[in-house]
Amino acid sequence: MARVTLDSVTKAYGDTTAIDDVSAAVPDGETLGVVGPSGCGKTTTLRTVAGFETPDAGGVYFDDGEVTHVPPENRNVGLVFQSYALFEHMTVAENVAFGPRMHGVEQEERQRRVDELLELLDIAELRDRDPASLSGGQQQRVGVARALAIEPEILLLDEPMTGLDAKLKTRLRSELRDLLDRLDVTALYVTHDQAEAMAMCDRIAVMNGGALEQVGPPAEVYHEPATEFVAEFVSVDAVDLDFLEAPRA
Ligand code: ADP
Repeated sequence: MARVTLDSVTKAYGDTTAIDDVSAAVPDGETLGVVGPSGCGKTTTLRTVAGFETPDAGGVYFDDGEVTHVPPENRNVGLVFQSYALFEHMTVAENVAFGPRMHGVEQEERQRRVDELLELLDIAELRDRDPASLSGGQQQRVGVARALAIEPEILLLDEPMTGLDAKLKTRLRSELRDLLDRLDVTALYVTHDQAEAMAMCDRIAVMNGGALEQVGPPAEVYHEPATEFVAEFVSVDAVDLDFLEAPRA
């Protein structure tokens, strides 16, 4: 996958500056969590990387290539959105083959990718199932397999846990974390839930009012917050701090 760089990106909607001079790099294989309160610019950041928004100033790069003005369909990004429900009139295998089919990938190669991804995500036995018959965790894996099937430069996850119950969320956190680690994907993970981001991501970027307040590993952001805002934002009682102490795989 690619290294993704935002270089001084600014995007306004009328009088509202949604993101303000944001610079960040996601090294190949890293999962960067983008967190902050509602309205701080997380979605706009993700949409800018995907190409759904064009910055007013600044640039977006995949490795050394500039993609700032490349339309989304030519950017090769994999999307996992909560609202991106699986297609229910298709089997699991057909869901995974959908993206490559839309990209004009030939049947034989589609088949190869589907087989490989289902195997990799440990859902090969589900290939002919109707997505509606799967558990939340299984559906999420199919969602990730579907996003990876186009062989993207980066995987963008936008609140992928929204709508799941708390118990399932906790379990899926570590499952998805292991998966992203194992697949070695470059990923941007947007969530308003700081505990989720800290549990899931290699580094987190804390946003406030369109600006980046701090970027760093979860433990660093937690123990050495750069600003008062960050200190307050990451100091929620509900955070289960075990993962801040545990060594990383
Ligand atoms: P977040 O994802 O962190 O909730 P957003 O990126 O959606 O934040 O929004 C950042 C700011 O930009 C907010 O003030 C929001 O109201 C504004 N905004 C986002 N999208 C639009 C839009 N299409 N038109 C006008 N304002 C927008």
